[in-house]
Amino acid sequence: MINGSYYTQVTIIGGGIIGAALLFMLSRYSDIESVTLFEKYDKPASLNSSAKANSQTLHIGDIETNYDLPKSQKVSASSSMVANFITHFGYEGTVGFRGTKMVLAVGSEEIERLRERHERFQALFPYLELWDAQTLSEIEPLLMKERKEPVLALGAKDRITTVDYGRLSETFIDLAAKEKCSVDLNFNTEVTAISKKWGKYLIHTNRGEFLSDMVIVNAGAHSLLLAHEMGYGRHYAMLPIGGSFYFADRALLDSKVYTMQNPKLPFAVVHADPDLTADWKSRFGPTAFAMPKLERYHDIEIRNLFEMLSLDRSVLEVYMDLMKDEEIREYILRNFAHELPGIGSSYFIKEAQKIIPSLRSDDIYYAQGYGGMRPQIIDKKSKRLLLGEAKIDSGEGIIFNMTPSPGASSCLGNAFEDTKRICKRLGKTLYKQKIKKELCDEKEYCYLSRSQ
Ligand SMILES: Cc1cc2nc3c(=O)[nH]c(=O)nc-3n(C[C@H](O)[C@H](O)[C@H](O)COP(=O)(O)OP(=O)(O)OC[C@H]3O[C@@H](n4cnc5c(N)ncnc54)[C@H](O)[C@@H]3O)c2cc1C
Repeated sequence: MINGSYYTQVTIIGGGIIGAALLFMLSRYSDIESVTLFEKYDKPASLNSSAKANSQTLHIGDIETNYDLPKSQKVSASSSMVANFITHFGYEGTVGFRGTKMVLAVGSEEIERLRERHERFQALFPYLELWDAQTLSEIEPLLMKERKEPVLALGAKDRITTVDYGRLSETFIDLAAKEKCSVDLNFNTEVTAISKKWGKYLIHTNRGEFLSDMVIVNAGAHSLLLAHEMGYGRHYAMLPIGGSFYFADRALLDSKVYTMQNPKLPFAVVHADPDLTADWKSRFGPTAFAMPKLERYHDIEIRNLFEMLSLDRSVLEVYMDLMKDEEIREYILRNFAHELPGIGSSYFIKEAQKIIPSLRSDDIYYAQGYGGMRPQIIDKKSKRLLLGEAKIDSGEGIIFNMTPSPGASSCLGNAFEDTKRICKRLGKTLYKQKIKKELCDEKEYCYLSRSQ
């Protein structure tokens, strides 16, 4: 206690996968002595990191054709830490699951693009194989049933493809609590404001005030709100994009099947995934539609929403630019149609039929209670929609992370980067050899340490 306030070296706000991974990284791989976590709900990962909110994919960048080569290099270096954690710490079959995954090219234009991509990415992902129609009908017969167009897939077998990020968050928190570092976990504790006091940060919560040398805000969509309230990141606005899913009535596919990205579309296209929360039934999605919410399945917070949207001229120009393009406009309208109660499935079925042509609209149903919010960031200076994560480092001991997809896959890479910054500022040691041994191979570690 310092003058009546509880004191800690590092405070983490948010107990989703990003906050939990940082807690684990700090407690196991540094000599930081005390870390406090604040989470406003009664358990970790009840929002976007829950297995029902996201697609449970460990994104590597190998079958995600919306990533260019530098992005795939970065994401694979980060996400391989998650795969290594799952394998080395014995969580295969409980937190992470092995399987087959692929990206499916439909029609000659997509096939050509896939072949060209394979050549460019081969050195980074040497394990990927090209599968023709014959091979596909052996691996996943439903992909070929009633199919008229030519297809080609690029895929891999026996990889960690699926992760329960909710369970992974709990695992990180449990392991952190067993380390030497003093870990103070505060659930049902909402951070309402952050101010500066005595050269430290004063964290105001519904359960009292806490002092901290450094603060890392991993509060999902609320990170930008807290940053704005402190005068940081004013050049960013947020576009909250909801993502929903449709279920088939049973497990139709054993593999994760992605489709080729249309280069013009701002968000990743629909894929099919065996769902670990529903006996591996096939789940299709996500859809992508702007939604006036910061948290899916929670009440609208009007004041916060308007602060986040920051609807000034530059933000409106980004919206106008998106709407100007006919293909994007059509995509946005189509995605609204997917949400229409009762008839959404008759629109969505066209997306799903690209994967399973024999599927009919009464074979699928809206996955009520599934889906989440992607806090997509608009950079007001460059008037661009940023499609990945964003970090605001004040340089003064407080960092804010905004983490749309593939944030969960990159959780340990992000934690590594923040731990480096925290150790540097507080004069503490990061146990690099231990990280290399437990979480990375040489190549991944080298990339991570120079790239971020
Ligand atoms: C539809 C969809 C599909 C996706 N699919 C994938 C996928 O397949 N693979 C992948 O890698 N990523 C995927 N993502 C992205 C992934 O879900 C996110 O990157 C990840 O969950 C973000 O984690 P987080 O910890 O930053 O946020 P969250 O999980 O949202 O956690 C933030 C936490 O902060 C807490 N909090 C907020 N404000 C406060 C406050 N003031 N005080 C205290 N606590 C607070 C919240 O209660 C919450 O628990 C998907 C996202 C969506 C929406």
